[in-house]
Amino acid sequence: VAVEVVPETGSTNADLLARAPTLTEPVLLVAGHQSAGRGRAGRSWLSSPEGSLTFSLAWKFDGGPQQLTGLPLAIGVALGDALAQLGVQVQLKWPNDVLKDGDKLAGILIETQGAPGGGTWAVIGIGLNLIMPDELEARLGRSAAGAPWLARMERDVLLAALLDALADSLRLFAAQGFGAFCARWNLRHAWQGQVVTIIDNGQVLHEGLAAGVDDTGRLLLDTAEGRIAVLAGDVSLRVK
Ligand code: ATP
Repeated sequence: VAVEVVPETGSTNADLLARAPTLTEPVLLVAGHQSAGRGRAGRSWLSSPEGSLTFSLAWKFDGGPQQLTGLPLAIGVALGDALAQLGVQVQLKWPNDVLKDGDKLAGILIETQGAPGGGTWAVIGIGLNLIMPDELEARLGRSAAGAPWLARMERDVLLAALLDALADSLRLFAAQGFGAFCARWNLRHAWQGQVVTIIDNGQVLHEGLAAGVDDTGRLLLDTAEGRIAVLAGDVSLRVK
């Protein structure tokens, strides 16, 4: 993996997606500061120069993008395990968030692009709140811990540990798909057994007890009409 560090950019995901047609090997792009970080569906991702770790990893897969639907969840598992090894316990919120004490400690955004000679480039963006951005605390109306222990760590050491875990997991995902991560995802499921709603465009689509994910990464919900499996798409999950 080629590692590149820039002091500031708009979005590391945007940068690597633009370069995807010319990439020949995996690249990790780390930004000291991201001024236009992205979330899903055009939402934005906030960061603060002193308190955020933002980076993207471009990784090539042989198949098409439809084989990558479980990838954000697999990356959540990889991050969860890596953070646990660093002494920070986190939970996973379906489909793509990492929570600590109920607050979003990290976000994962995966965007894909066809590779020129076949296969797919996945650009895996990760934003980690070592210190919670002020704007977010203002929105919450309270302070949020972040991960002060990680904030005190040497950034390079932290990044190396995360990159190592991510590369291992990406190889495992390429070989075995999300099935190899499903049980570990469920162990870290933040809202297991709680009543949740699935929201699409402000509308409640489903309500039920969250029962973990299946081996393709769909969220299982026990509703009044029985068990359903929800595809990630652009729906949001809320705990009731
Ligand atoms: P939702 O939060 O609606 O369930 P989501 O989990 O898919 O959607 P993403 O699109 O992954 O959210 O992330 C973008 C959202 O995360 C933003 O709309 C904002 O509410 C929140 N956010 C933005 N920056 C941060 C940050 N640094 N830390 C935590 N949350 C953030």
